[in-house]
Parts: sequence; C-alpha cells; structure tokens
Amino acid sequence: MSDDAPDAAATAAPVTMVPSHVRLTYTVTAGRHLSSYLRALADRRIVGGRCPVCTKVYLPARGACPTCGVPADQPVEVADRGTVTTFCVIRIPFEAAPFPPPYVAVAILLDGADMPIFHLVRGIAPEEARMGMRVQARWVADDQLGPTLASIRWFELSGEPDAAYETYANHL
Ligand SMILES: [Zn+2]
Repeated sequence: MSDDAPDAAATAAPVTMVPSHVRLTYTVTAGRHLSSYLRALADRRIVGGRCPVCTKVYLPARGACPTCGVPADQPVEVADRGTVTTFCVIRIPFEAAPFPPPYVAVAILLDGADMPIFHLVRGIAPEEARMGMRVQARWVADDQLGPTLASIRWFELSGEPDAAYETYANHL
C-alpha cells in the first residue's frame, strides 16, 4: 500500500451493531426460603417471612433482613389480594410475551406483606391502570398448580375502592 492510497479500514463506516442470537440455559437452585415460598404457591397459598426485629414481611422469606441482618424467615401467610403500588403498560410485542400487547404489569403489595410482588393485571383497559387499584389473584385450576408464581394466572380488580396513597406510600 502506497502512502497515497486511502486505508480501507479507516474510511469504511464503523461497525456499530452485529445481530446475534443468544441462548442461555441455566438452573436456579431455589434454596430453603425461596423453596418454601414456591411450594406454598403449589398449595394455593402465599407465604412470606417476617423479620423478628423490624417485623417486616418479605416475599419470599429471606436468609437475612437487609435492615436488621437477622433471618426474616418466621412464616407468614399473606392474602392473595392487595394494592397496586405501581404499574407499566407493555405496548411492544416480544417473543415471550404472555399476551398480545397492550397489557399491564404491576407491583402489588399483598395484604399482610411489606414487599410488593410483580405480576400482571387483566380485565382492565391499559388506560384504566393506576396506583392504588385493589386486585385479587386469579389462580390456575387445581391440576395446573405448581411451585411457581405462574400458579397465579393474573390479578383482576377486586371490586374494592382504590386504596389511599398513604396506605402504601412506604412500600414503593
Ligand atoms: Zn428487619
């Protein structure tokens, strides 16, 4: 290459993207606390763990309360209904989407818990989604129950009035 010839690599447009299909297969070892939470779901129950010091109820139970540093594993069964603390409307389709968009993903503070769980709400228009909605679990049929949060098909409006912001403001 002479000194006068342009360097092809220097003049070509930079490569900014390379499409690539990635697949990752992995196994999660649930451990004692997550296992108790998952097994309860197979029994149509939602069980968390209470910290004996600050009394917060974690879902699932934890090996240590992040505030107090002691096991938060005193079993506590919480309700299968609760308050939507925040939400997101999914409008973009993707391969593993559970429903055709739009649909509503929510954080739900179940009655008796101090940590929200994440799930879906069905039966409302996305424009109706709001903080404070009271929702009730719709479980799968008995023969479909298993140690998975998918034992709850989705949540629906419970018919109760919306919760006041102050009742969940410390759980966002
Ligand atoms: Zn604690």
